[in-house]
Formats: sequence, C-alpha cells, structure tokens
Amino acid sequence: MSEATAVEDLTPEEAAVELERLAVLMAEADAAYYQEDAPVLTDADYDAARQRNLAIEARFPDLKRDDSPSDRVGAVAHEGFSKAAHAAPMLSLDNAFSDEDVAEFAARIRRFLGLSEEEELILTAEPKIDGLSLSLTYEKGKLVRAATRGNGQVGEDVTANARTLEDIPVSLKGKGWPDFIEIRGEVYMSHADFAALNAREEAAGRKIFANPRNAAAGSLRQLDIEITKSRPLKFFAYAWAAESAPFAETQSAAVEAFKTWGFDTNSLMKSASNVDDLIAVYRDIEEQRATLGYDIDGVVYKVDRLDWQQRLGFVSRAPRWAIAHKFPAEKATTVLEAIDIQVGRTGSLTPVARLTPVTVGGVVVSNATLHNEDEIARLGVKPGDTVEIQRAGDVIPQVLRVVSPGEGEPWHMPETCPVCGSAAVREIDDKGEADVRRRCTGGLVCPAQAVERLKHFVSRKALDIDGLGAKQVQLFYEKGVVAAPQDIFRLPEQIEAAGLPPLEEWDGFGKASAKKLLDAIDARRSVPFARFLNGLGIRHVGQTTSQLYARHFLTWDAFWSAVIRAEAEGLEGEAFAELTGIDGVGKAAAGALVDFESEPHNREMLGALLEEVSVQEEEAAATDSPVAGKTIVFTGTLERMTRDEAKARASTLGAKVSGSVSAKTDILVAGPGAGSKLKKAESLGVRTLTEDEWFELIEGQG
Ligand SMILES: [Zn+2]
Repeated sequence: MSEATAVEDLTPEEAAVELERLAVLMAEADAAYYQEDAPVLTDADYDAARQRNLAIEARFPDLKRDDSPSDRVGAVAHEGFSKAAHAAPMLSLDNAFSDEDVAEFAARIRRFLGLSEEEELILTAEPKIDGLSLSLTYEKGKLVRAATRGNGQVGEDVTANARTLEDIPVSLKGKGWPDFIEIRGEVYMSHADFAALNAREEAAGRKIFANPRNAAAGSLRQLDIEITKSRPLKFFAYAWAAESAPFAETQSAAVEAFKTWGFDTNSLMKSASNVDDLIAVYRDIEEQRATLGYDIDGVVYKVDRLDWQQRLGFVSRAPRWAIAHKFPAEKATTVLEAIDIQVGRTGSLTPVARLTPVTVGGVVVSNATLHNEDEIARLGVKPGDTVEIQRAGDVIPQVLRVVSPGEGEPWHMPETCPVCGSAAVREIDDKGEADVRRRCTGGLVCPAQAVERLKHFVSRKALDIDGLGAKQVQLFYEKGVVAAPQDIFRLPEQIEAAGLPPLEEWDGFGKASAKKLLDAIDARRSVPFARFLNGLGIRHVGQTTSQLYARHFLTWDAFWSAVIRAEAEGLEGEAFAELTGIDGVGKAAAGALVDFESEPHNREMLGALLEEVSVQEEEAAATDSPVAGKTIVFTGTLERMTRDEAKARASTLGAKVSGSVSAKTDILVAGPGAGSKLKKAESLGVRTLTEDEWFELIEGQG
C-alpha cells in the first residue's frame, strides 16, 4: 500500500489498513510536534495525510476508527501559536449509540457505587455542541489564558483571540468563584452566522468553509486577532477542571454558577432520575436539533452529584461518570421550506426539497432530492413539515420521512415545465404503466435541455455536421447565437443579429475553418429521414426506431401526418395503430411522438427547422436483395466500415439488425475478436460470415 493508490481504487481491506497507517502516522506527528518539538511531517504533508484520511472515511464510513485523526480537530497548532499545557487533561467521552448503551451506562454506575434500588441516581442531560473545545484559565476572576484542546494535554494558546468573544468574560461576574479554575466549553458558530460568513467569503472570492465547526475553528485560530474579532463566534460553558476550591455540590449547580459568573450555558440542559426520562430528554433534543440554529451531534449525560463523580473517577482517560449519546450518523432532522422543480438535461422534472440548512455528517445540507411525485405522495410531505434527511457518501441527500407535519398546504407536482412552460407528462410504457418521472415535452425548445439536445442534433448518429461538435454547440449556445436547431442553419445571420463579429474573426476560427464549417452546415440542408428523426431527440425514438419509421413511411410528410392524425384520433385510432404496428417499434415511441407533436413549441420549432432543411425520401427497401427480411447480427471488429455504417447498410437492404444471437438469427457477421456471440451462433447452427464474405454477399446491392 502506498500513498499513490487512489482512494477510489481501494478495497475495504486495503482501506482499513490505510486508515490505521494514517492514524498512527498522524498521532506520531502530533506527538512529535507537542512533546518533542521536532515535526516529523511538514504542514503540507500533514494536510495531505489528513485529506486522504477524510476521503477514505467518506468512502468507507463504517471503517472509521475510534481514534480517527479526523476527530482531532486542529490537533496541530499553526506555527504562530505557542503551546499551552492544560492544568488538568481535557478528556474525551465514551460514546453510547443506543438506548441499551445508556441503560448499561446507568447500571454500571449503580454497580460501581453500590447503590440500592431505592437510591436515586440523578443524571444531567445536555446537547453535545459540535464545535471547538476551549479551556479558559481564570486566576482571581481574571481570564489569564485560553487554550484549544490540542492532544488533550497540550493545546494552542489562543488567549488574545478568545478575548474577542462576547460570550467569554474577561473578568468573572458575581461571586463564589475559586481563585483558580479552568472553565471549559465549546466555541461554535450559528447556522445563520455560518451562512452569512460563507456568503461573504464567496463574494470575496475566498474559499468557503465546509461546515460551522470548521468555520469556528478557522475563525478562532487566526494569527490576526482582527479576523477573529470580525467573526461571529459563540461559546457555551459546560465543564471545569483544576479548581482551587469546591464551589458546587452538583453538576447542575456548577453550571448554574457559570451563568451567574457571566457565561452562556445551554438552556436545554435537564436532569432525570431514571433512564427512561433520560432517553425522553434525548428524543426531545433530537427533535429540536433542526431548529436550534447550531450544530449538535448528541446528548451528554453526567452524574449530577460531584462527590459521586469523584468516586467514579476515570477509566483509560475517559470519565466513568459521563457518556455521549450520539445521534445516528449521517441523518438529521430539519424543516422542509419549499419544494422546487429541477429540470434535468434530458427533460426529467425532479422535485427538490429546499431545507433549513443542517449539518449532516460534517456537511451543511440545504437541498435534498424527493425523487418524483410518487415518492412525495408516499412520504406525505409538504412544505413546512419537519423531515428527517439522510446523506450517504457523496450521493445527493434524500428525505427519509416526515417527523412532524407543519401547517403548509398539500403539494402537487406541476404539469408544465417550470423552465419553458411546455407540458410535462408521465409517459405510459408498453405495459400501460405510468413512468415515475414526469418529463418536459419541450425538448429542443426547453432551455434546460437545449444544449444537450443540440449536441445530440448535430451528433454523428443524427445530422453529423463536420466540424460542429459538442464544444462548438456549447460555445454557440453560450454566445446566444444557437438556441434551437434551425439557428444552426442561419448561423451567420444569428451571429450578426447578436451583434457579434463574423465567425472568421472568432477565437479558434480562421477564415478557412469558418468557411469549412458553414459549408458543412449547408451540406446538411438535405438530410436522410432517419438521421433527421433521430436528431429531434424524441424519447424512445432513437436511431433504430427512426430507421424503422423511415423504411415504413418512406417520406417525412407521410410519417408526420400519421403522427398528427394519431394525436387527433387518440390512442385507439388507426394512425396510432399504424405508428405502433411496425415490427420493433413500441407504444412508448409512438406515445412520445404524439406528446411531442401536441406541444405547440415543438410544432413551431419543427416548422422553422423544415424551412431550413429538407428531409430526403427513403428509398424503398430492396426486396430482391439476398438479405431482405433476414435477421443479421454483427460482432467482433469490422475493418472495412464502422459497425454503425454496416448496420445502416444492412437495414437499407431490408435486413433486420439485431444485437443478440438467437434461434431467429439468420446471419452472423463475425469480425476478428468475435467471442460468445460466435460460439452461440455456431451452437445454434446460424450461418456465419466473415466481413469479406458479407461484402461479397451484398455486392452490387443498395
Ligand atoms: Zn421545459
């Protein structure tokens, strides 16, 4: 295993090994920095290791280690900060992931303390703030030092930065504070402040923060105090250490005291005397998570009596008297504010939930997919509801369920495209079932789809205009000179109308290449039926279907008048039957043609296009050809023409071209490298020809 192995190529086994290697490497780097003052990694190498670790964890969330370096936020100090040893270590907490874990935690405490069943065990419950831990040292009521957690023993001295926070008193208020105490808590940034900060950063062309925790850490650990001062950082106090004299008898009384000393404490903190009540507090906080306005990632329970905390003590650097009940990973609840419609490049309408921003798995999420209208009906979701969302890997987050309904009106999928106003329909498939997706029938006239449609229109299997590829189409579209296919045939006029210089003066177009392109476009003013139909990009009407229609109807006018009649007569009429009665053509294709024709924008576009282009009449299939009516399969590499061309040639000669070998196959044309199809053909006794034999057979035909 080396650093060179790309994350996406790692197997789970390799990933686990690599995560271990990185954890050890970064722990050594941290230790070297803090204890030996001799960095083993440069800042850049350290950062690369950190990024790689994060990337692997994102791909294999289950493999994330308990000692993951990604949980040690800001473990390595900027060079500009001096180190600060904590008077007492800043500890981590054990985690509980289920209600059973919490019950076991309480039972363990009871056993350890030897409590009888009658004896009450009071525990506090408070939200676990997802921010940056900070330890504030007060001597005789004055803030003398602020230090980040660092490795738990030694952190960074950020005193000057911490002094700029309004929530951190420089002098303690009230009375009763010990002469010496380290007050501990969490620096965090609210969602609203985070969004505003990122908006400012983005507007200034700077990098934006991935989540509020990173923003808080990045804002506090600034060498320039003015930057920290300008950032809206907040602080909750919830713990203490190294006090010179006792000042409270319970956890809750201590936190009450903090409030009188001038600290902000979390108002959601509660006490409970049994596990069920504790879990109820957890559920309550979880429910409020979306609307708190800041990130939390669980609920912390602590034994309330401080004398019991003392007796319980620590096990492997975590207190026995506290535990963090984590929220399920990668899920969060938030308010669904609105449902917007996104129109994809191929015209599918996707409902997207606009959410009150919430951090899920370390990323702020403000949109989630709702997939389609059936999914919305299944969820019973509407704007204003509080919903649970889930994020898995890099996939777009999705809405899982409605947690509590809001006051909003029921939501209905629009039946027109929000981008172009064309009808949006659910196609009926050959089995008579409606497609789950609603699609815009605007096709080439829909701006959401136009670029992709135009690229298809000029592609090799459609109009095949020399020198006009995806890149040029994109350019012309962006310059506003080609928005619809007919514009291609009026390119010089369109360019002039847009007030742009002639094409030959454009970057990348000389006089010769501009002329060549315009000539190539002109050469396609007469276009084969099948290429033209395929170029329109109508759903289910691709190359093969277009070819079948061309061969059946021969002229465009005959074909399109059948489509118009089918639209007028409905699905039971004769014209629709004719459109679907062709061997190899399904109802879906005919239905899509009718949908296309029934959209006025499309009729308009088609009319304009046919003023520029004439569709060639299809030659009647050569019924006397030796392959007429035969089913032919091509396989292997063809050397004398491309597979597409060979297929087209065979079709012209009246053959049916198929992709797979079956008992119905008449001829298999096998080039070099033919494999399973050739074997199958041989086993079925299908006539097999080489490419040369095939040409001999059709020589002089078509
Ligand atoms: Zn549209």
